[in-house]
Amino acid sequence: MKKFFLMVFCIMFGLFISGCSSGSTKQTNTDAMRQTEKSSTSSENQDEVSRQIFAMDTYMTVTAYGSAAQEAVDKAANEIERLDALLSTGDELSEIAQINQNGGGTLSSDTSYLVERSMELYEDTDGAFDITIYPIMEAWGFTSGNYTIPSEETLQSLLSLTDSSQIKFNKETSTISFEKEGMKIDLGGIAKGYTSARIMDIYRECGIESGIVNLGGNVQVFGTKEDGSQWRVAIQSPEEDGSYLGVLSTQDRAVITSGGYERYFEEDGNTYHHIIDPSTGHPAENGLISVTIISADGTLADGLSTSLFVMGKDKAVEYWNAHSDEFDMILLTEEKTLYVTEGIASQFRSELEFQIIEKGE
Ligand code: AMP
Ligand code: MG
Repeated sequence: MKKFFLMVFCIMFGLFISGCSSGSTKQTNTDAMRQTEKSSTSSENQDEVSRQIFAMDTYMTVTAYGSAAQEAVDKAANEIERLDALLSTGDELSEIAQINQNGGGTLSSDTSYLVERSMELYEDTDGAFDITIYPIMEAWGFTSGNYTIPSEETLQSLLSLTDSSQIKFNKETSTISFEKEGMKIDLGGIAKGYTSARIMDIYRECGIESGIVNLGGNVQVFGTKEDGSQWRVAIQSPEEDGSYLGVLSTQDRAVITSGGYERYFEEDGNTYHHIIDPSTGHPAENGLISVTIISADGTLADGLSTSLFVMGKDKAVEYWNAHSDEFDMILLTEEKTLYVTEGIASQFRSELEFQIIEKGE
């Protein structure tokens, strides 16, 4: 609750920045959003409608411009609440919680789509993205906040339940069941990207030409800014000082970041974060501290930010080489080397030195 009020305070004073975060979760910012926060309280721009919502454990801001902006933003807020109620593992009435409790069932069209995309990602990423990670998330206490380091024995036995190839999913009937008792799924690695993608659909249906959403640091921009210039999206830094890795100029893209610093706990001087390597059951430690994916497909961007964080730099570059028409990426390694793929290099500005990853490397 304290954190919630701190966030409200931050928002009221236009300080939607990482420096306002406390403890183990982190909020982020775009410079475009900072402008939005200011003008939503001062109504400098008559055309702009902006709304804040607390959902999916984070603070979200949806903004649209133009005559249909109010309708679009209201529909976006309803959509966020609808998806949160459907997908939240923590809410025992949610569809996902019911599926987990019953070991299967019939899925709604949204959940069915997300399971299908997640299973494709599981295949494409050699298992780095695996929604059957939920029992392991529970064992570490990430689902309850009662953090604990599970024994190796516990992890080994739960790893036998962590295997998306053991999900039986029928796309035609939208039914799902699990081959092993105790398997549970978690769409937390992909749900926010899907939510921002759905908001883009709503903006399109409402005839909006310019809009932006920031779902706890995961940003998706619709069109350009009203004046026709590109959105400037600040890429969050793992540092607690509110600094950025750089600023990306873009339009019609999702810009989604995964990092171990976003949610973690500390014990005996060690840090344990929430992105789990499904091959070990431990928080992924493969040399990356931040992965940002830039893609027209918000769902893909979110799924890949988690996956490539698990894979580590070399495999991430290999994956990008095979899929460079679908996304670009910004990687920060433990040694603090910043890499940017060539597709966005000319749109990225940073005070830090960065290396450009070219195709075929
Ligand atoms: P993100 O912030 O998008 O990287 O998502 C992190 C969330 O995804 C975690 O809080 C878990 O709910 C879930 N998760 C953790 N590890 C994995 C994994 N290897 N594959 C799929 N989802 C994961
Ligand atoms: Mg993700």
